[in-house]
Amino acid sequence: MAFDFKDKMAVITGGSGGIGHATASAFSEAGAKVIVIDRQHPEVSVPNSRFVKADVTDFEQVGACVREIVSTEQTIHILVNNAGISRDAPVWRMTEADWDQVLSVNLKGAFNFIHHCAPYFRTQNFGKIVNVSSINGLRGAFGLANYSASKAGLIGLTKTVARELGRHQVNVNAVAPGYILTPLTRKLPQKILDTAKAETTLGRLGAPEDVAQAILFLCSEAARHVTGHVLTVDGGQVA
Ligand code: NAP
Repeated sequence: MAFDFKDKMAVITGGSGGIGHATASAFSEAGAKVIVIDRQHPEVSVPNSRFVKADVTDFEQVGACVREIVSTEQTIHILVNNAGISRDAPVWRMTEADWDQVLSVNLKGAFNFIHHCAPYFRTQNFGKIVNVSSINGLRGAFGLANYSASKAGLIGLTKTVARELGRHQVNVNAVAPGYILTPLTRKLPQKILDTAKAETTLGRLGAPEDVAQAILFLCSEAARHVTGHVLTVDGGQVA
């Protein structure tokens, strides 16, 4: 794809996983320098990238991580809040720990990075933020009370921060993927994946690269007038 991110510095959380790794690779191919944030080093390193180990749930650790990146790389232009987990159970069996862990990674993790990056974006009058939500944050799904709440919360966070940072020329958007084949979904029963595929109008499940390209678009000059938007990348699953 013909996106040009030369001279741009992109930070991708959860960058060792399926969608995060594809996004980091796509930014790198488009000329960006990439910082991969995760708990573990990716199996395959992305060219023109640096791995920074961090737990997105830790407010102080994220602050230190952002300060280290800015001090080493001079700036951050692009932030993709992609780190996410699931702990599925119907609400009557969901434990407090299931709820807290999912909300902490999926929603507080994004807040932590946005909070610490926002002062730099405000000062430089430029920034692109993409939060990785989910179609299940738009519609809900059985067994996903914690996950759906976290992903719906990300949409509220996206729309609010878009209003707060707009006058500083910061675009804040979300993508809402449908079922994408990654380590997160490979553990699901085949029946759920078959149902998801049957729900799509395109008759297929997505690949991590499909989400990566949507994220690049939202961070590109082609989308400079798009902010506060939720872009579904779901093959028509909730259409
Ligand atoms: P994945 O392959 O499991 O990748 C998620 C990455 O986030 C993993 O590398 C994981 O590390 C990392 N992570 C988890 N907790 C973290 C923490 N506290 N601090 C730092 N990194 C952490 O999942 P994916 O499918 O690519 O999902 C990426 C994002 O897309 C998630 O937000 C997910 O909710 C969203 N999404 C996925 C789908 C789908 O169908 N796959 C659909 C809609 C939305 P560990 O391996 O150590 O946990």
